[in-house]
Amino acid sequence: MKQLIDKLETNSVLSLEEYTKLIEGFTPELSEYLFEKARNIRHHYYGHDVYMRGLIEFTNYCKNDCIYCGIRRSNKNADRYRLTKEDILFCCESGYELGFRTFVLQGGEDPYFTDEKIIDIIRSIKEKYPDCAITLSIGEKEHDSYQAFFDAGADRYLLRHETANDVHYGKLHPKELSLKHRKQCLYDLKKIGYQVGCGFMVGSPYQTAENLAEDVLFIKELQPHMVGIGPFIAQHDTPFKDEKNGTLELTLFMLGLLRLTVPNVLLPSTTALGTIHPRGRELGILAGANVVMPNLSPVNVRKKYMLYDNKICTGDEAAECRYCMQNRMEAIGYHVVVSRGDCAAVE
Ligand code: SAH
Repeated sequence: MKQLIDKLETNSVLSLEEYTKLIEGFTPELSEYLFEKARNIRHHYYGHDVYMRGLIEFTNYCKNDCIYCGIRRSNKNADRYRLTKEDILFCCESGYELGFRTFVLQGGEDPYFTDEKIIDIIRSIKEKYPDCAITLSIGEKEHDSYQAFFDAGADRYLLRHETANDVHYGKLHPKELSLKHRKQCLYDLKKIGYQVGCGFMVGSPYQTAENLAEDVLFIKELQPHMVGIGPFIAQHDTPFKDEKNGTLELTLFMLGLLRLTVPNVLLPSTTALGTIHPRGRELGILAGANVVMPNLSPVNVRKKYMLYDNKICTGDEAAECRYCMQNRMEAIGYHVVVSRGDCAAVE
């Protein structure tokens, strides 16, 4: 097994069978072997810098019905909210003062936010903070909408592919959603010129080791700038409420494999990872991740953006989250930096 990791380190890719074998058979010892290599590569491209993104969860209305997600439209218990443009700008203002130079606007697919409204929000943020990057994470749209957001000043787009296997995709989503369309969106975004992020949940219901290997190979093909992964965590108001959560160990192992497969990728150590283990985000950084995404959403809406159960940091002000993150990173020998944090060029 160690030879396979060595091979991956040299070639930055393995076959479907080889990835599957590693994912099926990983041990704590093999993980340590992988993480050391992942850290070396990450240090080569990014040193000990950790990039910060300020996450603004601006709406939890959603027209989709993804089976795993706590803000799916069928969840009648979700307490719905929308931030106004002024609320969003206020989040940016406090974020800017705290050193954030990337704002991530994330939300459900909420028809209230027409293209016109999104464009107006992008322009307003860019006007006030021209030195900041804007990342959108608002789901599947038409090519022309993506183009219009880009023209208005959006820099990056996060759209997790969720799973690269068609049959598995069908088990996690209602039938009106398709992997084909999701992938098409990712290719459109890339072509337009966004820095693009895809990603998946680790340990989602019905997922096999081979599915995860397919995820890694899809990522290798897409060559995204970012990859967001985190453990699946059951949400009590969804049909998956009794399903098992993804594990810390497998999520970390996948982070390590991704660092070796796409060496310069921007890899967040996610809130979901911090939710299943008190030191999850630190361990993610030590497994090869290089990005953290503290929350900038107003405290009064935090608990409402409940994609999954027990989400952390729902009671903290932005400043608390930012300094808590700084302390956590410093404790493991890393430091959060004030910069846009763009993707490093491949050598
Ligand atoms: N509507 C946007 C944003 C989705 S929320 C979009 O379609 O891209 C961001 C991510 O949260 C999702 O892509 C999904 O991977 C993750 N997520 C949703 N429910 C989850 C759960 N129960 N456990 C872990 N992650 C979840």
